[in-house]
Amino acid sequence: MRPPRHHRRAAAAVGLVVAGLLSGCSGTAPDPGDLRPGGTARPDDEGSLGSSPAPVSDPVEQDLDLALSTPREDSVYPDVGDPRVDALLYDLDLTWSPDDRRLDAHAVVTFRATRRARAFQLDLGQGLTVGDVRLDGEPVRFARRGKDLVVRAAVRADRRYELSLDYVGTPRPTPAPTTRGDFSTTGFTVTDSGAVWTMQEPYGAFTWYPVNDQPSDKALYDVTVHVPAPWIGISNGRLTALGTEDGTTTTSWQLTEPASSYLVTLAIGDYAHRSNTTEDGLRVDYWTPRGMVQHLDELRTAAATVDWIEARLGPYPFDTLGMVVTDSQSAMETQTMLTLGSNDYVLSPQVVAHELVHQWYGDQVSPDDWRDVWLNEGMTMLMQWLYEDDHDIAPLRNTLGAARNADQGLRDTYGPPGDYDPEQFGGSNIYYSPALMWNELRVALGDEEFFRIARSWLADHDGTSVGREQVFEHWESETGLELTDFFDAWITGTTTPARGVPDA
Ligand SMILES: [Zn+2]
Repeated sequence: MRPPRHHRRAAAAVGLVVAGLLSGCSGTAPDPGDLRPGGTARPDDEGSLGSSPAPVSDPVEQDLDLALSTPREDSVYPDVGDPRVDALLYDLDLTWSPDDRRLDAHAVVTFRATRRARAFQLDLGQGLTVGDVRLDGEPVRFARRGKDLVVRAAVRADRRYELSLDYVGTPRPTPAPTTRGDFSTTGFTVTDSGAVWTMQEPYGAFTWYPVNDQPSDKALYDVTVHVPAPWIGISNGRLTALGTEDGTTTTSWQLTEPASSYLVTLAIGDYAHRSNTTEDGLRVDYWTPRGMVQHLDELRTAAATVDWIEARLGPYPFDTLGMVVTDSQSAMETQTMLTLGSNDYVLSPQVVAHELVHQWYGDQVSPDDWRDVWLNEGMTMLMQWLYEDDHDIAPLRNTLGAARNADQGLRDTYGPPGDYDPEQFGGSNIYYSPALMWNELRVALGDEEFFRIARSWLADHDGTSVGREQVFEHWESETGLELTDFFDAWITGTTTPARGVPDA
C-alpha cells in the first residue's frame, strides 16, 4: 500500500484527473495511440506506450500443492478468516451488470481442511445472496452470520474439498479500520459510471467473493469476468482468454503463484492496453482508462524501475507484471497487477516504484499476521527513499532527517509499528519507523551485504507468509550479530531508538 500522503513533502495539490475518463459504454474518446500530436507517447522510443492488442496465452493446469499454507487466526483482526480452512484455488466466474450494479457469480473454492471439524466458514459480504452451496457436489446446509458464511458440513484433517456456490447482489465496500485520508472503506467499489475497482487491505476481498480473508492463507486464482463490451474485466496474473460475443466481453485470468487475498484485484471499465519491456525482456502491461493521456510518461518508467529493483533485490519474482489505473485515490501492490488510483501523487514514478518493490517485499513473501504489516512497508519505504535519492526526487539525507523527526510522534499517535492501534491500520508508523531501522542496518553492513541478506531472505521464504521471529532469526544468523534488542526497540518500543546497530 502506498504511504499516507500527510507526511510527505511531495504532498502538493492532488488533482482529480479521472473525471470523465471512465466514460461509460458508449461515446468513448478515441484512444490517443502512438502518433497523436501533443500526446505523451513517443513512437520512436521503444519504451513508449502506444496502445496495442492485449496478449493472450493458454491457461495451464494449476499446481495446488504450491498453495499449501499454515493459516492462523489473525491477532489484530481475529474476526476475519478461519484457520480451519487452507484455500488452495479460487475459481471465480463473475458477471457484472453496470446498469443495475449487479454481480452474478459462481465460485468454486478448493481447500484443505486443516483439522477435523463439524463446520467451517468463509468470509462473504452481507449484501450478497447465496444460492446453492455444495461440498464435493453434495448440497450442504449453511448459515449467514454477518459476513460469515458458515458451512455446516463435517471435514477431516488434511483432506481436500471443493466448495461451490452461486451468489448474486450488489457488493458493498466494508468500513476500513483506519483514519487514513486516502481510503475509508475497502473491497468492491463502484464508480458513478458503474465501473469497478477493488483495494482490500487488510481485508475486504470478502465483499466480492467467498474467501479465507487473512494473509497467511495464500491461494491460486482462476478468474473469469463477463462485462458489457467494450468494457473489460481485469484481474491478477496472465490473461488466458479475451473475446467479445453478443455484446459481452469475457476475460479469463490465471494466477499460478499463490497470493494472499489482500493482494487480489478486480477492475472493470473501458480500458486501453499498452506495454513496454524491462531490460531482461519482462513485458509490463499497462491498463489505462481509454482516453487517458496524462501520466503515461510516469507509468512507463515502471519497466526501468524493475531493472533498478532487480539490481538490489534480485530477479522479479513472478511471470507477469501489469498495472491498472482506477478511480481510487490510493495505490495497492496487488500481485502481478498493481492497482493504481488516479492522481498526480499516486501515478508518480516513486509511488509506482513503491508498489513494484512490494512485489518482492509483501507479495513474494507476505506477513502471516497483520501485526507484521511493517515487514512489507518498512523495507519498501526504505527502497522508495533510495529510489528518490537515486532519481533526484528527494535527497536521502533530508528524507531520513524528516522521518527521524517524525518517529516519536508516530509512535505516540499510532503505536509502535509492530504493536499498533487496530483502528489505525496503515498509519505512517508502519512505514517510517521500520524504514529507519533497516537503514541503520544498511549503513552498518554496507549496501552489498545488506542487499545480499535482503535477497537471501526472499529466496529462503519464496511464496510463503511469515512472521517477525523468522525475519529476526534470518538477519541474526546472516550477520552473526545479536539483534534482538535492536529489533525489539524499533518494532515494539514506545520511544525512538538511538542511532546505530550495537556491536556491528
Ligand atoms: Zn506500501
